[in-house]
Amino acid sequence: MNVIGQVTVLPELPGSIGRLSELAYNLYWSWTPHAQALYQALDAEIWERFQHNPVRTLLEVPQARLDELAADADYLERYRQVLADFDAYLNKQDTWAKQNAAKMAPVAYFSMEYGFHESLPIYSGGLGVLAGDHCKSASDLGLPFTAVGMLFHQGYFRQLLNKDGWQEEAYDELDLTTLPIRPARTSSGDEARVQVRIAERDVHVRVWELAVGRIRVLLLDTNVPENREDDRKLTARLYGGNQELRLQQYALLGVAGIRALRALNIPAGVYHMNEGHAALLGLERVREFVEGGLDFRAAVEAVASSTLFTTHTPVPAGNDAFAYELVDRFLAKWPGRLHVSRDELYALARHDQFWDGHWVPTFSMTVFALNMSRAANGVSELHGEVSRDMWKFLYPGAEVAEVPIGHVTNGAHNLTFTSQAMRDLLSTVLPQGWEERLEDEAMWQAAEGLSDAQLADVQRDMKRGMVQFVRRRMREQKIRNGASAAEVAATDTLLSEDALTIGFARRFATYKRATLLFRDRERLSRIVNDPQRPVQFVFAGKAHPADNPGKAFIQELYRMSQEPEFQGRIVILENYDMNVARWLVQGVDIWLNNPRRPLEASGTSGMKASFNGAPNFSILDGWWREGYDTTNGWPIGEEREYADLNVQDDADAYSLYSTLEEQIVPLYYGQADAEGRGGWAGTVRRAIQTVSPRFSMQRQVIDYVQGYYLPLTTRGAAVAAGGGQRAREIAGWKTWVRQQWPHTSLSASADLPTTARPGQTVEVRASVNPAGIRPEDLRVEAVLKRGDHVTRVPLAHAQGGQYSAQVTLPDSGLYAVGVRMLPVIDGLSSELEAGLIKWA
Ligand SMILES: *Cc1c(COP(=O)(O)O)cnc(C)c1O
Repeated sequence: MNVIGQVTVLPELPGSIGRLSELAYNLYWSWTPHAQALYQALDAEIWERFQHNPVRTLLEVPQARLDELAADADYLERYRQVLADFDAYLNKQDTWAKQNAAKMAPVAYFSMEYGFHESLPIYSGGLGVLAGDHCKSASDLGLPFTAVGMLFHQGYFRQLLNKDGWQEEAYDELDLTTLPIRPARTSSGDEARVQVRIAERDVHVRVWELAVGRIRVLLLDTNVPENREDDRKLTARLYGGNQELRLQQYALLGVAGIRALRALNIPAGVYHMNEGHAALLGLERVREFVEGGLDFRAAVEAVASSTLFTTHTPVPAGNDAFAYELVDRFLAKWPGRLHVSRDELYALARHDQFWDGHWVPTFSMTVFALNMSRAANGVSELHGEVSRDMWKFLYPGAEVAEVPIGHVTNGAHNLTFTSQAMRDLLSTVLPQGWEERLEDEAMWQAAEGLSDAQLADVQRDMKRGMVQFVRRRMREQKIRNGASAAEVAATDTLLSEDALTIGFARRFATYKRATLLFRDRERLSRIVNDPQRPVQFVFAGKAHPADNPGKAFIQELYRMSQEPEFQGRIVILENYDMNVARWLVQGVDIWLNNPRRPLEASGTSGMKASFNGAPNFSILDGWWREGYDTTNGWPIGEEREYADLNVQDDADAYSLYSTLEEQIVPLYYGQADAEGRGGWAGTVRRAIQTVSPRFSMQRQVIDYVQGYYLPLTTRGAAVAAGGGQRAREIAGWKTWVRQQWPHTSLSASADLPTTARPGQTVEVRASVNPAGIRPEDLRVEAVLKRGDHVTRVPLAHAQGGQYSAQVTLPDSGLYAVGVRMLPVIDGLSSELEAGLIKWA
């Protein structure tokens, strides 16, 4: 038809269930299945059709149905209970934050993507789900916290597999009136609008807000009539475009994001850049300080002292870098605005890379983020190491171990991913209020009290539900692709409710090696088709639209799933999203992850599976290298890297098959020992007990508070105090020592015997020309290196630039001994901050 306009007829909520609308606009429901059930009960078909979206369900449900339930005693009782819990949650006074972080400054958290729920498709995968989970736990803990992101009105993409198993992408224009968002309003009641100058245009940005429990998320949107047509599309798709679009999106997130906070008067004292995408927030904050009277360098000190940067991947595609000319096109006005030369500004982002056969300087978002922050971290212990190695070129003269990038291992939001049935079961053994102390390892010991039978019952039901879900989805897919009636009918027998079921779902980035399982097809076939002890696999995952190798992996999986020997036992589901993720982590018996070590910075889906009693079976990479304790799941391969990727793939595949055949399958199908312990359920219990607390998002956010947010609160305030007095001093001092540094000199000597005993001391001496740098501002030190282990011993200043110390050789081993000096003053975030190290 020819549409001339649109009108939404809003049903009227009867008074007795009047707060269903209020609840729909707070994502509290996204981790509260009982709350979701209230909307599902309105109309199960609508609920399914609209991705479990409460706002949409309320819009679509017939008035008569609302009136009917408004008089249903059972429904009303459930409604009252959910709202009582909701109120208690929102009004809780003695939060963790109040008791443990009362002095913490409000945090502003910036992320390109957020995965809160399948009905709000503004995420692509792990990074977004992590950010969404981080917000949820920030709310649970009662932190002063505001998140900033983008409202992609076509979201990421919906994945369709065609009849050849090739991924196709569909983009649906979201109807914003059906999302749980509202225009953010300023104190005067107006809708918040901000502007950003990109190239020669003023781009207008509308700001939406989303309530996630106690906290707010601001979402930026350029799809407003004031903007040119192409600017309206700047916030259309997540990771959708070319380099030009990306850079403009990053400018929006960073610059408009800060302006949105200011327009809404939202206080912030600590800024958290979740991935390099957010780094340009540094530009806008520097501009604010410059406007307040600081020079560029002092302003950078002030900004960086209150900023944390989290890097999430060593994979090059995850570390954007732009040609200088491209940056010139979009950010040409910034050097002038900041009273700095283009060269000096770009130097803070410079990463020389080998592009098209020669070395070119590029504007790296990761480098800029590192320079715009004074605290940085990777997302697992191993990823911290990998990151220090990857970015050590920014800290010339430093040992890898000293590169100031720490780590906080990722977690997942337990309640978002744990099935209601498992939560009910856990409530029978864990103390009351366990949902509020998820990080408490001692508390989780009580999960020992879960019996084999109880666990088996819950897991059987969850698996049954998952199998039904897979069949429904595969049926829809077959029908859409024009399959024959026989093929459609065959979906009713996909998978068995009794077979050992292994889940594998994630983005199909090639390093995740989705097809590793098929490396020895005959062996796999024997495992899968064992008549007594069958094994089946459920795969799901999206490839980035431009990633043809990733799509080829999907197609290969699809083809394998159609082979007679695997049919019905290996399935690949389309459109992996948070809904599919929940079904799988709750319904499978084991979670499989076989990335190419060390490229999986953390991984989180295996944590979600363990929360539900599906032990993890994975390469010792990312979180699993820390989580695996020999009793709570299984490793694949060894703790090492390989020079030859083919050899690595062979070794890992071999290990995967052997562990399955020799350990996992016999344990799953075997009997428990005499006490009924130690068998399969023993591993299940261990997975729940050990992974739930240590890899809870709550533990993760507490680590951020203690390791970063609290220290940055103090340091940021000190550096910015008195109109940035300390920032000026630090910046002035750095400028000065950098000038003097080429004129300094250092020579050293040591009386080193060829062999020595443990505990023996040696004298180390140095002679310094400090070029005017005060002795108290100069650290001269001996460095002892044994393997990766570095010990630093300061040399004492005698006079006339002479330094010495008696240095103890603590233990046996081969030591390398060196002497170096570096300028330091009080109040730096690390001794490497000045970036000057001179070795003798
Ligand atoms: C948890 C999750 C991911 C991340 O999984 P990894 O283990 O990090 O690969 C990706 N997508 C969805 C929908 C998830 O829920």
